[in-house]
Amino acid sequence: MAKRAAFEIAGQTIEPGNRATVALDIGRLYTHTHLELVAEVIHGRKDGPVLLVCAAIHGDELNGVEICRQLMKRQALERLRGTLIIVPVVNIFGFLHHSRYMPDRRDLNRCFPGSERGSMGARFANCFVKEVLHKSSHVIDLHTGAVHRSNLPQVRANLDDPVVRQMAESFGAPVMLNAALRDGSLRGCADDAGIPLILYEAGEALRFNDYAIKTGLAGVINVMRDLQMLPPVRRKNKILCEEARTSGWVRAELDGTCRFIAQLGQRVKVGDQLATIASPFSPQEQSVLAPWAGIIIGRNNIPLVNEGDALFHVARFETLGGAERSVEAFRETLGDTEYAFDQTEALPENSG
Ligand SMILES: [Zn+2]
Repeated sequence: MAKRAAFEIAGQTIEPGNRATVALDIGRLYTHTHLELVAEVIHGRKDGPVLLVCAAIHGDELNGVEICRQLMKRQALERLRGTLIIVPVVNIFGFLHHSRYMPDRRDLNRCFPGSERGSMGARFANCFVKEVLHKSSHVIDLHTGAVHRSNLPQVRANLDDPVVRQMAESFGAPVMLNAALRDGSLRGCADDAGIPLILYEAGEALRFNDYAIKTGLAGVINVMRDLQMLPPVRRKNKILCEEARTSGWVRAELDGTCRFIAQLGQRVKVGDQLATIASPFSPQEQSVLAPWAGIIIGRNNIPLVNEGDALFHVARFETLGGAERSVEAFRETLGDTEYAFDQTEALPENSG
């Protein structure tokens, strides 16, 4: 059999069976500090897909950064088929400042595919597309909820594409959401280039969440097994992953302090009480009720709300029983008691 060709990235050549930390030159900060986008590249001996796993396109979304760190240490990568590109931090600018955004206040995930002569975000996006995305055959993009909002672990993807759907199902998060493409997102850009991409959302910005990290790492490895990049394992139980075709936000109808009652992962019926909003300056009080039946996949965590603020993200399922079982099965497989969709977790509408 002919030897596999070397992999070229960021001006480096990586021979089959080797790994390297490569750095893309991004430029300098105005402090004269040199800035690099760093990727870990593992080029297996045998042919296979080129999987890109990237995190922190939103610089304050940290769970994916930890998933990448743990993924790099896996011994099984010594037997990798294909090539794995891990970019733990895409938006290094935001990461430095604990911020979702670029220094020019743009959302990098609205700057793709970018251009050579555009804004700072557009130039950076353009560099990432040319040097990294276009070298990949499959992508897993890791996100979390926004600040003060957390997400139940979930995959968002175009489930009407069979290859994307297969990746989403094999990832095995408790919920997968059919999500429309957003202009300027890496996901939209990958779709235009015919590169299947799934987006994983879990936890909250600027926080590590063990359950979100554990589920995400297992998900990436599951996808790699399904793509035959890693040897398969015999599974006792098939992964239960429920599909939601639509979802919506329940919003505050009153300003005030909010006591959240419903928890992440909880099943709700129409009319169930989700929260109570009260005014600290008057006896006025209002119950927030579920307007439709579903599972809570995202939640606000800050108890101060203005009228119109998003409180709960509720997914609609065709069969609610199935969704509930998949969330339950997840809790059991991970033996998780501490995270267990408790009061500290909820979801962002502006991520992804
Ligand atoms: Zn995000």
